[in-house]
Amino acid sequence: MSRAGVTILDVEQAIFKLQGRGKNPSVDAIREALGTGSKSTIAQHLRDWKAQQPGGPQGKLPQDLLGLVSGLWERLSLKAEQRIQEIEETSSQRELALKQTLAELQQNHLRLQKQLHQSEEAEATLTVVKETLEINLRTQQQEHVRLIERDLVTQQQLESQKTENARLHQLANNIQANLEHYQQAVQQLQTEQHLAIEKQHAREDTDELDRECLKKMIPDSYDPCPCASEKKYKFCCKKVFSEIMEAMIAAEEGDYTSALKWIDKAKSVVGETAEVICRESIVYSYFDGKKSNDLLAQCLSINPNHPRAHYLIGLMLKQSGDIEGAVTAYQAAIRHYPPTDVFHLNEAYNNLGSAFYTGGNIEEAKSAWEKALLYLPSDKTTRRNLAEFIHNRKIG
Ligand SMILES: [Zn+2]
Repeated sequence: MSRAGVTILDVEQAIFKLQGRGKNPSVDAIREALGTGSKSTIAQHLRDWKAQQPGGPQGKLPQDLLGLVSGLWERLSLKAEQRIQEIEETSSQRELALKQTLAELQQNHLRLQKQLHQSEEAEATLTVVKETLEINLRTQQQEHVRLIERDLVTQQQLESQKTENARLHQLANNIQANLEHYQQAVQQLQTEQHLAIEKQHAREDTDELDRECLKKMIPDSYDPCPCASEKKYKFCCKKVFSEIMEAMIAAEEGDYTSALKWIDKAKSVVGETAEVICRESIVYSYFDGKKSNDLLAQCLSINPNHPRAHYLIGLMLKQSGDIEGAVTAYQAAIRHYPPTDVFHLNEAYNNLGSAFYTGGNIEEAKSAWEKALLYLPSDKTTRRNLAEFIHNRKIG
């Protein structure tokens, strides 16, 4: 501890202390008691103090009292010093204990701070980890959703593929079946082509016969007229050939008004001949049976030999089940057709054959059909009748 310098009061206290101990307060003793100060300064203060003392230090108090007071001072000082020392020791111990506690507290504080710091770091790390995990979780969830969607799409594709496979399988089966069918069809087509070629050859032959047939249907101009009027065809029914043909075609097509108009036209050309009345009867036969029969009777009253009228009566009787009457009527028609009218003779014989056959007269039927063929060798119906009902029957 530095001092501002030894004062006179310091010197006086040292003097009292030395006197209390029974010692002489010399400059050296005072300096020793003070522990500091220059000798010259202390000597000067000692001289000043002595000068202030009235009559000198030992001038007033008796030596015994002085000794007693000094002893008392000494004991008090000693006790005070001991007490101070005790207090100082106690304080020092408390201070030491407090310092130790403080140090411990500081250490604890440091440790806690460190732990706090570590915790904060750990928390920060955990936060980062948590965020990372959350991001990962979201990514995983998105990926999961994406995978579910892809799975759905894949399943749909799988289903489509299955359906497509089934369709292709079916298609392959169909193609296989079609191929077999196609092969069969090709074979059939080849067979049919051969048949068609053969048919074509046959048709060429038949066409020849049909032309002949058609030619036979229309009489030559100077042949006897097929109406059995005993006139030449040219001067009889040939005059109304086209009107009668138009009337027949219109009646067949159901246009009876037009048909009757054509009949009227024919009448305007040749009058009410048996042929025209017979044709008029045919037109009415489509829609008025009574009128038709009346006209047929009128036709026969004009010309009892009119072959077509007998032929028509044969058709009606056959249809009504009067086979015998039909045979008689057909035979009358055959008798009156001119021998040159091969077309109508063929037709009448053909029906006569059918009537015989229906009546169970097979031999007469065969004979009638053979005569029909003599008049018109190209007649397919008669050929078929002969083949089917006569020859096959014999074989059977
Ligand atoms: Zn005629």
